[in-house]
Amino acid sequence: MPPPLPTCARALADLLVALSAARALPKGQQLHGHLLKAGHLPATASSHTLLGHHLLTLYSRCALPALSHRAFLDLPTPPSPAAWSSLISSFAQNGLPVAAFDAFRGMIAAGVPVEEAVSVNDFTISCIIRVCAAATLFELGAQVHARAIKTSLDSSPFVGSSLVSLYSKCGLVECAYQVFYEAPERNLGIWNAVLIASAQHGHTDAAFRRFIEMQNDGYRPNHITFLCMLTACSHAGLVDEGKRYFSLMKEHGIEPKAEHYAAMVDLLGRVGRISEAFDLIESMPMEPPESVWGALLMACRMFKDADTAAIAAKRLFETGSRSSGAHMLLSNTYAAAGRHADAALARKAMRDAGVRKETGLSWLEAAGEVHTFVSNCRRHKRSEEIYSVLEKVGEKMEAAGYVADTSAVLKDVDGDEKQTTVRYHSERLAVGLGLLIVPEGMPIRVMKNLRVCDDCHNAIKYLTKCTGRVVILRDNRRFHHFKDGACSCGDFW
Ligand SMILES: [Zn+2]
Ligand SMILES: [Zn+2]
Repeated sequence: MPPPLPTCARALADLLVALSAARALPKGQQLHGHLLKAGHLPATASSHTLLGHHLLTLYSRCALPALSHRAFLDLPTPPSPAAWSSLISSFAQNGLPVAAFDAFRGMIAAGVPVEEAVSVNDFTISCIIRVCAAATLFELGAQVHARAIKTSLDSSPFVGSSLVSLYSKCGLVECAYQVFYEAPERNLGIWNAVLIASAQHGHTDAAFRRFIEMQNDGYRPNHITFLCMLTACSHAGLVDEGKRYFSLMKEHGIEPKAEHYAAMVDLLGRVGRISEAFDLIESMPMEPPESVWGALLMACRMFKDADTAAIAAKRLFETGSRSSGAHMLLSNTYAAAGRHADAALARKAMRDAGVRKETGLSWLEAAGEVHTFVSNCRRHKRSEEIYSVLEKVGEKMEAAGYVADTSAVLKDVDGDEKQTTVRYHSERLAVGLGLLIVPEGMPIRVMKNLRVCDDCHNAIKYLTKCTGRVVILRDNRRFHHFKDGACSCGDFW
């Protein structure tokens, strides 16, 4: 129990609380100046900690999280659980989830149990889980989940929907479904989260079923719901169903946005209906953004349509995009269509525009550590073992019929991985480490920032057949569950 504040300081603290409640920033700043002048701040004496804490809240409420942080740093150390929690909330509520996440980690590292940080509410916790999901930090996310259970915050549908997307993005879709089914309370957010999980993991029938279930439960689909459904159709190549959902949007009074058009272009493009996709783009009531042209370009590469690719790339660059991916797609499309001079020109245009190729990265999170790999690297401390286990498994794979497709090096590889030996693309090194450190019976979960190339996709299929392991690989397109020599994407990605 801190000693009571002197009467004048208590009056000042009350005033600060009132100003904070009224979000009266100019008056609050005046008072802040006065407190500094009168020597009440920075709060070196523990009796004045309360003033500092109120100041933190004032700035948080007035949407000035940097000043909240300043007030937090000026508090006497160690900060109280309440101060930590106000800081985390300040970041979370002011749209800085990553800073909230870092502060949360800081609080845990400082040994403050989350159940003592009383005002860490469901909004803040769900914000932190979302950051873990975006960075696919499964172990940390699961720790936050455990803490949410301790504080009963896991029953909130906000926390629930963040957990569903955490587990789904980390490749543990069964856990995501379990969180969904056990949620004591549902809202539209958690329905959408489970729909996108079903879509991303290729459980298309489940997505269709849940779309009906959610409406029977009394929820009206919104624009996110429809985006989930279009994604589900796209991953399964179901054009007619996709068109049905697209027209259903209007029946629900929802105008398709650019992202819905991008999903439709993706869907049509994946089955080779490129001119139809192009017509759809031309019919858009708004200026087509980068994502729409990018989807068309991807389709052009898949179906070696170099002429349309050239138009799509031109229009994409006109949107002001500096994406290296688009340049590479165009050059790869030319190469695949045998137009090598054009491919070289496209690469030159990329250099001239000063666009750098994106570095291919894969990572694997295990035993509290994130291991990151680039192609052919030997930076990992267990590199020797990784290369040797891949060699050994490689022999078995070849005996089982795997033939390395070295043409992938030339034609169908994204980013800077084009130049490197296909055999040691970053995801293979990550899988190699997985063979060493992920316990038998557990899936090896690898994330990658670029699209997995044809050869690595084929190799990992053989690897699962020869080792009996399960590999879950998320690339920038979708999830691939490799098991017994097959992939859940049905070689469609
Ligand atoms: Zn590869
Ligand atoms: Zn696959």
